[in-house]
Amino acid sequence: QLDCIVCVAKTSETWSKIIYIKEDKAAQSLLNKMIHTSLVNTTNQVEVLQRDPNSPLYSVKTFEELRLKDKLLKGVYDMGFNRPSKIQENALPMMLAEPPQNLIAQSQSGTGKTAAFVLAMLSHVDPTNKWAQCLCIAPTYELALQTGKVIEQMGKFYPEVKLAYAIRGNKLDRGAKLQEQIVIGTPGTVLDWCSKLKIINPKKISVFVLDEADVMIATQGHQDQSIRIQRMLPKECQMLLFSATFEDSVWKFAERVVPDPNIIKLKREEETLDTIKQYYVLCSDKEEKFTALCNIYGAITIAQAMIFCHTRRTAGWLAAELTKEGHVVALLSGEMTVEQRATIIERFREGKEKVLVTTNVCSRGIDVEQVSVVINFDLPMDKDGNADNETYLHRIGRTGRFGKRGLAVNMIDSKHSMNILNQIEEHFNKKINKLDTDDLDEIE
Ligand code: ADP
Repeated sequence: QLDCIVCVAKTSETWSKIIYIKEDKAAQSLLNKMIHTSLVNTTNQVEVLQRDPNSPLYSVKTFEELRLKDKLLKGVYDMGFNRPSKIQENALPMMLAEPPQNLIAQSQSGTGKTAAFVLAMLSHVDPTNKWAQCLCIAPTYELALQTGKVIEQMGKFYPEVKLAYAIRGNKLDRGAKLQEQIVIGTPGTVLDWCSKLKIINPKKISVFVLDEADVMIATQGHQDQSIRIQRMLPKECQMLLFSATFEDSVWKFAERVVPDPNIIKLKREEETLDTIKQYYVLCSDKEEKFTALCNIYGAITIAQAMIFCHTRRTAGWLAAELTKEGHVVALLSGEMTVEQRATIIERFREGKEKVLVTTNVCSRGIDVEQVSVVINFDLPMDKDGNADNETYLHRIGRTGRFGKRGLAVNMIDSKHSMNILNQIEEHFNKKINKLDTDDLDEIE
């Protein structure tokens, strides 16, 4: 999809948009890694497709069943893991099987993929051999560092195993032989280390991990580099690929780099509007929307609320106006670094602020389960100005499992926004009632 946009991009403005989209995918992923400090719950079942349907399907309910080295088991428990996550129940026995099996696994962020492949890499290493044996590639410098941290943490009691970072800035001389058994890096540097610089001997790699495949293919050049690295590895090398989403493009890529794969998929929890009370408020402009918001402010801050604006500018303006009124609000905005965003989301999750003002781009994919009020200060729309139903559902929908009652208020200030509201009503076949902000008994 992105490649198409790249082909037709003519103006510098379009280019900056494209770069922004790409960065956003990687930033989003990093943000998710940073804020998922515990497993994401899911009631969905894992789908498993075995390469050899006749071989028995193993799944484990405990880490002991995996017969891990004591040092590794200690590391796992030290991280606070009591039992394998849903995806790990099936993925771990496959990854640790003899002979090694290839795997393509897809599940949303926070379901335990990274922990799974890190454990697999650590288990496969022979620490007496002082050369690179496991190779993991990630789409960006930051994502590589993040995964490196997990390797270091899980391998804490296994100090004989060493880790090297193949990332920009980490300069090694041509022909210098790497002693570390595990290498994590970005595709460009890893490729250089394997080919031009001959720091890694790709023929000695026995486990190859491709993390965040969906982000990887959204970045120009990464796909080719990943394929070139994969081509240098021995046939019997175990190939593992992980992705949070699975569009056709990811699938095509996965099939090219992982021969004869086993496949594990875990669907996202379905979202529904069934337990949400939806309203709209009629205003004439932005200022009136602000006044209406102030009128309902007391009612909405009984719980935690998220307020969505269409642009960073409106979000910034709104947060400033609310602050002027004496309200304590947090602002999550696109110009912030990922670290800043992670801090703000963490504070909000801990309830330090009750209201979070944000834009859509910024908050896509972030789940804050305790939020029960959503204000659409601007309604979600696509680039053609039509209702963006998917985003609407994702902003206010609840998953079956966390199906607390929720409240959504949509601010309408034009014929156009009324039109979008009508499209949303029609799409979900659910009526959205008008809210009288002078009489709030209804929502309280
Ligand atoms: P993903 O790679 O799918 O985004 P992670 O492996 O990063 O998921 O796991 C998400 C969070 O859950 C991390 O904070 C991780 O430490 C934790 N986690 C992973 N596996 C387990 C487990 N079996 N038990 C408890 N917590 C886990």
